[in-house]
Amino acid sequence: MSLKTIHEIDIVKAPHSKIASVDFDNLIFGNTFTDHMLVCDFKDGAWGKPLIKPYEPFLIDPSAKVFHYGQAIFEGMKAYKDESDDVWLFRPDQNLERFNKSAVRMAMPEVPEDIFLGGLNEILKLEKDWVKKGMGNSLYIRPFMIAFGTGVVAAPSTQYRFMIILSPAKAYYSGEVKVIIAEHYSRAANGGIGAAKAAGNYSAQFYPQKLANEQGFQQIIWTDDATHTKLEEAGTMNVFFRIGDKLMTAPVSERILDGVTRKSIIALAKSMGIAVEERSVLVEELIQGMKDGTLKEIFGAGTAAVVSVIRAFCYQDTTYELPVQDDSFALKLKEKLTNIQYKLEDDPFGWTV
Ligand code: PMP
Repeated sequence: MSLKTIHEIDIVKAPHSKIASVDFDNLIFGNTFTDHMLVCDFKDGAWGKPLIKPYEPFLIDPSAKVFHYGQAIFEGMKAYKDESDDVWLFRPDQNLERFNKSAVRMAMPEVPEDIFLGGLNEILKLEKDWVKKGMGNSLYIRPFMIAFGTGVVAAPSTQYRFMIILSPAKAYYSGEVKVIIAEHYSRAANGGIGAAKAAGNYSAQFYPQKLANEQGFQQIIWTDDATHTKLEEAGTMNVFFRIGDKLMTAPVSERILDGVTRKSIIALAKSMGIAVEERSVLVEELIQGMKDGTLKEIFGAGTAAVVSVIRAFCYQDTTYELPVQDDSFALKLKEKLTNIQYKLEDDPFGWTV
């Protein structure tokens, strides 16, 4: 499958590339950006022509609604390079669909496919040298939309800016991840915006995240806001639990982000003969599983880290260390998924574009 070229697009090329000054061996995630960005404005009820131009700051009115009411959404995806120097995206249609669901929930206009995917295709053609070969290397793609209209009145904006920026990334090594299970704070609630990739969902986590870091935990596993007994997801990852030889993960709901990695892991696990249940897993089941030895693995799944093995979890001031698995589902699934993403294996699902 390939993405269609978009003709209705203006391109202003950067006079020179910054690429020679970038140390690709020592990249800090999300800190370096490529030479170009895509900008497209919505006003008077319609999207204008997308423009690809040199990456640079832009002017924005201090009363723009994004600053005051947080009308802002984003996506996170990656481009990978195979051994023949072709650049691939992984299920980009899923990111477009999720972006537009987030847009609807935040009373923002949907972005048409030709601007989102067609525009992405064009900017990737310009920036293909920024996608480095080799397992773990990728170009992180950040599409986002902000309320650009002015006026400190709490009402949806009538003007928006959609942009795509790109950041080269190395393999994301998350180290020994220890997590704490949320007992007080909540990330999302029924009827809220938890299922949207809205900026405010992330800033709302910063304070509890900081408290968790101070206690020596890298991540929080969020629980349902009503009872704090059902395990939901982590800050930027969905979470899987292996109890016995079954893999379990919370069902997608109004409170959980419908992760592209999550749904891919579920499909891959099933194709590998692993039983998967999409159901609420109770904190109690983890504690019981630690006692009787049936809890074998916990791992997070998301675009940035792909699969992140969780080594320990804390609940009610007790830290439980998970056993190291010789036959790890997490590592098997990670290998299978990255092999498909980097075109090292056939893609029977048709996920790569
Ligand atoms: N949950 C949240 C809250 C996230 O921000 C992310 C990252 N987008 C995920 C889960 C994982 O989603 P994906 O696999 O699509 O990256």
